[in-house]
Amino acid sequence: MKGLAMLGIGKIGWIEKDAPKYGPLDALVRPIVVAPCTSDVHTVWEGAIGERTDMILGHESIGEVVEVGELVKDFKKGDKVIVPAITPDWGSINSQRGFPMHSGEALGGWKFSNFKDGCFAELFHVNEADANLAHLPDDVDPVAAVMLTDMTTTGFHAAELAEVKLGDTVCVIGIGPVGLNSVAGANMMGASHIYAVGSRPDCARVAKEYGATEIINYKQGDIVDQILSKTKGAGVDKVLIAGGNVDTFAQAIKMLKPGGAIGSVNYLGSGEFIKIPRIEWAVGMGHKRINAGLTPGGRVRMEKLASLVQTEKYDPSKLITHRFEGFEKMEEALLLMKDKPSDLIKPVVII
Ligand code: NDP
Ligand code: ZN
Repeated sequence: MKGLAMLGIGKIGWIEKDAPKYGPLDALVRPIVVAPCTSDVHTVWEGAIGERTDMILGHESIGEVVEVGELVKDFKKGDKVIVPAITPDWGSINSQRGFPMHSGEALGGWKFSNFKDGCFAELFHVNEADANLAHLPDDVDPVAAVMLTDMTTTGFHAAELAEVKLGDTVCVIGIGPVGLNSVAGANMMGASHIYAVGSRPDCARVAKEYGATEIINYKQGDIVDQILSKTKGAGVDKVLIAGGNVDTFAQAIKMLKPGGAIGSVNYLGSGEFIKIPRIEWAVGMGHKRINAGLTPGGRVRMEKLASLVQTEKYDPSKLITHRFEGFEKMEEALLLMKDKPSDLIKPVVII
């Protein structure tokens, strides 16, 4: 089978591989709709997780089941499925501890395009199909649904990590496709003022549609000053981080009220350390929490997100700005993600 792979740091290309083998609990899936991710860009062009050779990329897909193992109960050949980016080993100790995204080891639930071939292929393997696939509901558009697999779940997770509560004032740093979902998630969880930090007008427009009350442009002055000025020096209850770099945490601490929380889902592609400013962290006694993590995945998570689309409480299609048609367009879509023109939020490839 053919797939679009990371050949080494900084290099992608098409390769041929044997179709993956599958065990009794697993499935083989053919992608129908896929999307490239900023994480693929960190992985390939920043070498953020180290060297990978001939690893097929891609972890966001809607697919059709081609084969299932003999112990799979709820899925059969021909079923249309939502495939989460994170596919844990549900029996692992870390899963039992409540962290399936770290099944086996830290980040172990993130298999596709991390340490296993991903979905930019004619076929791909899904472990524990009954626990890691979700049926695509008939009334949910597969193109919109591909956003659920990573963008929605990750963006919402920032709001979960910060434990956004009714009436909270929230700053969302970064309003690419992930941060836009943090805005939507915070809004649905009851935030009042939502300050959304970004510079691109298309992202700012969608942020407003998802519930942002104000846009802060980080290119037009320090965001800490801007937030403190807008909140009359009080700061915010919660900061959700979905963009920026290792220095963003210092800004988040500075704009956070005592007792506030940071929820970060940013993939830190470079930098050795994250610095916490001692004074603004109330000399270590401010109850300013930092909670950072990989999104949960799995079947139930996808079913719940799909139910928000079915009930029209949330519309993931607002994120899609570029549509490509045809398997071979994956390469163009991924390079577009790397170059990130200003009108891009998220590209999809319809196969
Ligand atoms: P984008 O690059 O599309 O968006 C990044 C956002 O951050 C943009 O709004 C950008 O502004 C803004 N930004 C950039 N630099 C700064 C800065 N110095 N200060 C403030 N804002 C800044 O990324 P995505 O939305 O696709 O992804 C966000 C992050 O989430 C990535 O690191 C990605 O790898 C990660 N991720 C994490 C996952 C997880 O499970 N934890 C899963 C999937 C993704 P501008 O408007 O100028 O572009
Ligand atoms: Zn991703």
